[in-house]
Amino acid sequence: MNPHPKIAFDPTAAAPLIDPFGRAISYVRLSVTDRCDFRCVYCMSEHMQFLPRRDLLTLEELDRLCAVFIERGARKLRITGGEPLMRRDILSLFRLLSRHLVSGKLGELTLTTNGSQLERYAEALADCGVERVNVSLDTLDPERFRQLTRTGEHARVLAGVDAALRAGLAVKLNAVALKGVNETEFVELTRFAHGRGMDMTFIEVMPLGEIDGGERIDQYIPLSRVRERLAEQFTLDEIDYRTGGPARYMRVAETGGRVGFITPLSHNFCESCNRVRVTCTGTLYMCLGQEDAADLRAPLRADASDASLRAAIDAAILRKPKGHDFVIDRATRAPAVSRHMSTTGG
Ligand code: SAM
Ligand code: SF4
Repeated sequence: MNPHPKIAFDPTAAAPLIDPFGRAISYVRLSVTDRCDFRCVYCMSEHMQFLPRRDLLTLEELDRLCAVFIERGARKLRITGGEPLMRRDILSLFRLLSRHLVSGKLGELTLTTNGSQLERYAEALADCGVERVNVSLDTLDPERFRQLTRTGEHARVLAGVDAALRAGLAVKLNAVALKGVNETEFVELTRFAHGRGMDMTFIEVMPLGEIDGGERIDQYIPLSRVRERLAEQFTLDEIDYRTGGPARYMRVAETGGRVGFITPLSHNFCESCNRVRVTCTGTLYMCLGQEDAADLRAPLRADASDASLRAAIDAAILRKPKGHDFVIDRATRAPAVSRHMSTTGG
């Protein structure tokens, strides 16, 4: 049972953040750490250099930052990473942030996790007003899972998923579609998710950060291929369901469940982009697929009144670009942006 009320209209609210293309920024994704207990092959290289802890914003600073975005109209906050549940004392941040759910200023507090720590945290997250979580699970095969994550333990993730469901959280599974890796599992993953009342979403691999052990073009498959595979076994019906994100959903007639497709490469969704991303060091990225960024850590530390922080956010939103220019092909060897998804916060 979630005790938190839904958003109330507040006539005293500060002006919303609107970018030069008229898009209101209502969604903030906040990375609370660049560290992770996994090393997924499409996300990180095997020997990642992580940031020194002193560079990270403190939990209090992260909370101040969120409060300013919420005051300016952010209605949805997603905590991510790296692996967000690896950040020490992360629950205290969720507890602090839950006051915005209680006040009704924030509509949703959620997280994306690899699930490894979810068994331990699911109940407490639900108590903080979290209602939905995204869990990344690319395969149902424990051995393949180990190869893909390099360090991950499949059973622990499944235990985390079960704990989340027991705690009453709505769980969405996310799988990156990887050529020659989980191509044979799209149907099974969907059956698995729907059998437990979870949505299933597939994601195209994006060219973010250097990885070792292969080229992106060798990992990439357009989601049209996933859809074809699913259509061999299932009847897919168009539906209108939207979660405010880039996923486009269909209903699987045989299971009654939803399947989502996130296609940044084969179908660009920038025109309706309502989001920004903040890294654990306080760097604000106005677009996942562009290098331009604004430092919020210096203004955050410059004065306790948050005046400098507000001004820095205002200036940055005016630079939000129209869209990304991701390309994955044989001629484009370098990643579109040099930072990893784990830095920006996926
Ligand atoms: N560690 C958490 C997790 O794995 O869910 C949260 C952070 S992770 C960076 C967020 C999402 O980004 C995961 O679903 C992951 O599969 C996805 N991801 C990472 N690198 C990616 C890439 N290069 N292309 C597409 N998705 C990627
Ligand atoms: Fe870690 Fe998530 Fe990246 Fe995998 S996708 S290495 S779990 S941050």
